[in-house]
Amino acid sequence: MQKNSEAADYRISIRSLLLRPSEKKEINVTIDDETARSYGLPCKELPKAEGLFENRAGVLMMTYTLRCVPELVCDRCLSDVNTEITETFSHVIVTETASADNDAEYLLAPDAMLDLGEVVMEDLRLSLPTKILCKPDCKGLCPVCGKNRNTDACTCVPGEQAITVEFA
Ligand SMILES: [Zn+2]
Ligand SMILES: [Zn+2]
Repeated sequence: MQKNSEAADYRISIRSLLLRPSEKKEINVTIDDETARSYGLPCKELPKAEGLFENRAGVLMMTYTLRCVPELVCDRCLSDVNTEITETFSHVIVTETASADNDAEYLLAPDAMLDLGEVVMEDLRLSLPTKILCKPDCKGLCPVCGKNRNTDACTCVPGEQAITVEFA
């Protein structure tokens, strides 16, 4: 996804982390509203990433915990859904595609530059449930009158709305 040009720049150089065994660096970053929106994931509580880069015997690992409350709406009734995300991710950072294998575990950093905004937002996307519901038994919107059937009991009969005949 294309980044908004006004969004903050979260790219960091990881050259020394890649080169020096036992090298470590703390991760402590909050993604701003502009960036979260540019990835199509506005948040009520902005994504916060805390963790560590660590070069373990020549393999650079990135392990961090992501916390945020994304702005989600129920797939059925379109009401707000408050889901707090707290998830830990672990990536191996590589500089060549050969070893990356298109696996989400691997992050590709060809010029020893890593875009933390992109990493965090893509991880957030992966951690969202595929079906977003306000509650497991959400009744959804009435297909006839459009009322929220969780809160408004309407008397519509499903299937009888389809044809409107106008008489001259
Ligand atoms: Zn719902
Ligand atoms: Zn109805």
